[in-house]
Amino acid sequence: MQKFLLLAAAFILTSCVTPAQLQQASVAEFAKMREELDVSENAADRAFVQCVADALIVQLEEPYRSYDWDLELFEDDAINAFAMPGGQIGVFTGLFKTATNQHQLAAVMGHEIAHVTSGHSLKRANSQAATQVGILVGAMASEAVRNNAGLIVLGAQLGLLLPYGRAQESEADIDGLDLMAQAGFRPDASVELWRNMAEESPRSMPQFLSTHPSSDTRIEQLQARLPAVEPVYEQARAAGLRPDCSR
Ligand SMILES: [Zn+2]
Repeated sequence: MQKFLLLAAAFILTSCVTPAQLQQASVAEFAKMREELDVSENAADRAFVQCVADALIVQLEEPYRSYDWDLELFEDDAINAFAMPGGQIGVFTGLFKTATNQHQLAAVMGHEIAHVTSGHSLKRANSQAATQVGILVGAMASEAVRNNAGLIVLGAQLGLLLPYGRAQESEADIDGLDLMAQAGFRPDASVELWRNMAEESPRSMPQFLSTHPSSDTRIEQLQARLPAVEPVYEQARAAGLRPDCSR
């Protein structure tokens, strides 16, 4: 915990965070998570998540398409997924409770990848006000009763995955929707996903929700965008992009 706090403080006290610094920190944080959390040994689950990630990543523009993307599936009930600015993507097996097929999983991963391609972490790291540290540390203390994964992820959020602003969340939703449609995933699955999330939220989603806007708001925004992306999806399917990922 102390280490995470120091890491967070270091980020905030550094007046300007460079992309290289963020990428280095991402690599270190992700390696630590692999050591400290349970990594899934379920080959089918791992293949499922990798299959969706591959289908999305190949649709990215450069330089992101050629990024050194690194995916890990963590065995943990938390309904969560994240992507770090260095291209590290973490998915928790708890996410399968709400992302029940490849299209819904693509909605989550497309959103997280969009945070990376939009450079949201860098903007956020460079706009942190010192007063926010106190708020975040308070939030962390109140979450301290959560399981090990929750703590570590929260630590990672302090350094790398601090809650995004509402505008960034909306941007990631829209960019993620475009990306999944380009890859041949059914865009309306994003709405299904957030309905599933809303059903689960009272019990098991404090962490995920705390960094994301309400389901109602995002469902409305996604629905408004669907007519624009349906043709993109149809085109992708016609061009033979028909991902076939399952557990
Ligand atoms: Zn987000």
